[in-house]
Amino acid sequence: MKSSAELLKEHQLKVTPQRLKIIKMLEEYGHLNVDELYNEMLKEFPSVSLATIYKNINQMIDSGIIQEVKLPQTKSVYELIKEPHLHMICNICLNVEDIIIGTDKIIEEAEKLSGYKIEDSFMTLRGICPSCQNQS
Ligand SMILES: [Zn+2]
Ligand SMILES: [Zn+2]
Repeated sequence: MKSSAELLKEHQLKVTPQRLKIIKMLEEYGHLNVDELYNEMLKEFPSVSLATIYKNINQMIDSGIIQEVKLPQTKSVYELIKEPHLHMICNICLNVEDIIIGTDKIIEEAEKLSGYKIEDSFMTLRGICPSCQNQS
């Protein structure tokens, strides 16, 4: 796997400690919303502002390193760009998980039915995660 610094350089972004930290956190947690990113950043960079975090996030979105995952009824989360996948979200704990399922067939079918040329998709499945099921 590429190092975070290599990833930034490859996308023509300057390697800064804050950007490295954002990538590291997303590698570790998978999906984080902006508040979670901000709170973690504060531990290492006590003077960082929310505006700076947004700026870094947006630059990395523009460069194709991370993407925003829009979720129904809860804040968007950010993740590193990886292979196409769907998101499972737990209705109880709001945990977000990736599930790697090919979406080509669905998109192909949707294009056929609608005549659209699909460019982007955000598919979310909602339910109760295994750990919440065990608690009931
Ligand atoms: Zn849950
Ligand atoms: Zn994801």
